[in-house]
Amino acid sequence: MRALLVIADIGGYTRFMRVHRINLAHAQYIVAQLLEALIDAGEPHLQLAKLEGDAAFFYAKLPDRPKEDELASFSGRVAQLRRGFLARRMEIESNRMCTCDGCTQAGQLKLKFVAHVGEIALQKIKRYTELAGVDVIFVHRLLKNTVPVPEYILMSEPVYAHLEADLREHARPTHEELEGLGAVTTHYVDFVELARDFAAWGVTESLVPSRLRRIWGWIKMTVRSLPYFVGIRRSCDGFRNMGNVDPSLAPAELAGPSSTAALASFQTTPPPIDPKS
Ligand SMILES: [Zn+2]
Repeated sequence: MRALLVIADIGGYTRFMRVHRINLAHAQYIVAQLLEALIDAGEPHLQLAKLEGDAAFFYAKLPDRPKEDELASFSGRVAQLRRGFLARRMEIESNRMCTCDGCTQAGQLKLKFVAHVGEIALQKIKRYTELAGVDVIFVHRLLKNTVPVPEYILMSEPVYAHLEADLREHARPTHEELEGLGAVTTHYVDFVELARDFAAWGVTESLVPSRLRRIWGWIKMTVRSLPYFVGIRRSCDGFRNMGNVDPSLAPAELAGPSSTAALASFQTTPPPIDPKS
């Protein structure tokens, strides 16, 4: 089966934030929120194949015979994903009450994409469907690349060949050496540059600060990050963009303070609100 394969990848947390359990638990929550926004923005055209730590792997089935206009709406979909991400990031930032590194660095998180068109096989494993095939490996290998800007989409030749003219004008070629697959020519578009020329690639609306929304946001984050904070679940496990997580932050039964001690030190009252906001 032919398909368009797209990976949306979130990065931007600095490595030094790994030292505290609370940072990691909140980073986990924030990245999950942003991934949720991406999945919502992708529906119904881009289907989620898998959540992969701090990335979401999407696909869209294509006709068996390549059609001239099969990717006609592709750039619009990517713009929609990016807008969904930016809007949620702005919401998280404007509602922020916590001062941990995980929360204060949320506003600088970046989104990049890699895209490819190829053949896939759907493999059923119990109740999950996995995508398989060399093109699935190919699109994942694109994540390790030499693109010199932080926010971009990197495309293989088959995607670039069908790109709309205005987007193609902004594309620049790169040559990537993909592990096990050899050298390929790819093309990338810098989102920051694109957003300067096209309003559809940025977010123009702003959020009115609301005290109630901030408190509600804080409660939601506290409750949802609790299993990660006490070590029942592992924070930021499988995040590609955060380096190795400090082993002392492994689940409580394996290392670190006991769950009760961790619970006792968990902040149970919201931080004071600045009356000006
Ligand atoms: Zn925090």
